[in-house]
Amino acid sequence: MTSFDVDAVVVGSGPNGLVAAVTLAEAGWRVVVIEAQDTPGGGLRTDEVTLPGFRHDHCASTHPMGVASPAFRALGLEREGLRFAQSDVALGHPIAPGSSGLLLRDVDRTAAGFGADEKLWRAVVGTFGKRWEPLSRGIMNPLRPNLDVLALGATSVWPTTWILRALRDERTRAVVAGLAAHSILDLKQPAAALVGVALGAFAHGVGWPVAVGGSQSIADALIARLRALGGELVTGERVTSIDRLPSARAVLLDTSPRDALRIAGHRMAPRYARALASLRHGPGVYKVDWALDGPVPWADPSIADAGFLHLGGTAGEVVRAEHEVARGRVPDEPFLLMSQASAVDPSRAPAGKAAFGGYCHVPAGFDGDITDAIERRVEHFAPGFRERILARHVTDPDAMEAHNANLVAGNIDGGSPDLRQLLARPTLSLTPWATGDAHVFFCSASTVPGPGVHGMSGRLAAQTALARLG
Ligand SMILES: Cc1cc2nc3c(=O)[nH]c(=O)nc-3n(C[C@H](O)[C@H](O)[C@H](O)COP(=O)(O)OP(=O)(O)OC[C@H]3O[C@@H](n4cnc5c(N)ncnc54)[C@H](O)[C@@H]3O)c2cc1C
Repeated sequence: MTSFDVDAVVVGSGPNGLVAAVTLAEAGWRVVVIEAQDTPGGGLRTDEVTLPGFRHDHCASTHPMGVASPAFRALGLEREGLRFAQSDVALGHPIAPGSSGLLLRDVDRTAAGFGADEKLWRAVVGTFGKRWEPLSRGIMNPLRPNLDVLALGATSVWPTTWILRALRDERTRAVVAGLAAHSILDLKQPAAALVGVALGAFAHGVGWPVAVGGSQSIADALIARLRALGGELVTGERVTSIDRLPSARAVLLDTSPRDALRIAGHRMAPRYARALASLRHGPGVYKVDWALDGPVPWADPSIADAGFLHLGGTAGEVVRAEHEVARGRVPDEPFLLMSQASAVDPSRAPAGKAAFGGYCHVPAGFDGDITDAIERRVEHFAPGFRERILARHVTDPDAMEAHNANLVAGNIDGGSPDLRQLLARPTLSLTPWATGDAHVFFCSASTVPGPGVHGMSGRLAAQTALARLG
């Protein structure tokens, strides 16, 4: 009988890697996680990148998917001290200085703010919001679709620009365009609105909370659970070949497709390796974090305590900006996705100060400097913003990839979530985490169900490994 050093090696400690590790450890497996960076967590890392006392999320900051995720709900990480915080305003979308569309926790008040679209919002997003639990189960395991995810597909698979034509109030149009733009797809193509309507529904169902203390708290809670179950974590070790890993029953790769191929491509089924090689990555991101000498001076006070903001202007401006990016150009007025975590979680900044930051989409690998354009855009909606800047930290696409090898050329979604790659991710199969080698599994956001902090790729990959080898 073969003897193993451990039962499973997990390469990469992002949310998917950590959830996979905990799922295996809960089943009694001895697990080690190996992480390339000195700090674990992947897209969950939080650091004082501007000034001491200002805690900025490097990547993910808002967690509707995390809170709604069946994987996180099953793990019950509040037992490890994990807490979330949010205000009543999940999302603020300034259209012009002083005037915004608001996505609130409450469906009725949100719909009332959307004028002529009130009934439509209530009927579609409000209904999905009430059914957030089965909806999240369907979205996060789309290979076993339920009625809710089929209904989401029927209403929202269409190009966002078509859906916008059915809306009459600019506030609804702007909010819908901004939500759909989280897909980083051209809004003229199908599927972006699937992401948008789901995010809107989760705002009503569970809100858009931040993790108290920073997203790092989610990674810390997962690591605490893993260690309590006897699992280990090694940091500062970039894995380059499966042949140099401890011998194990299973190896799970929370990596980019490129690293997965480098590490274990020679052991995978040729069809699977080809699918990894041909997975298309979309545009990158350019991010700026600021330490501020006080809250952002928004012209519209109704967004002062929003946890998240879309600085996009009208729906037409959002559509134009994302279309430019899809064509490989940097828009003059980028669409900004901003986290205002310190407005809902005071632990993020010293008293009276604010930690603020966010990103915009840019062509993959873009190497220019657009910090000034981004600050001008914030200043447009918050006159006096620049005077409050104490320090800034810029992360361009190259720096994104240096910080986390999964962010290829600054792309944050592990491969475009277009219709084809939402389902065939990386290949069309009921077990897309199985690579063709009985002992190697792929579990990053480049697998079903795709990008976001939900841990479901990790959980489903681990369950597949347990079913086959356990
Ligand atoms: C700027 C930005 C903002 C985002 N905002 C949000 C948000 O608000 N909400 C949300 O839900 N999602 C958000 N996301 C997306 C989310 O962070 C990712 O989808 C999620 O982190 C993917 O998890 P993962 O486990 O697949 O990979 P990752 O979190 O990327 O982790 C992969 C880990 O594997 C390690 N690794 C890679 N290769 C190797 C190797 N060869 N050897 C050892 N270790 C390796 C990496 O260092 C990294 O730690 C954002 C992402 C970015 C970049």
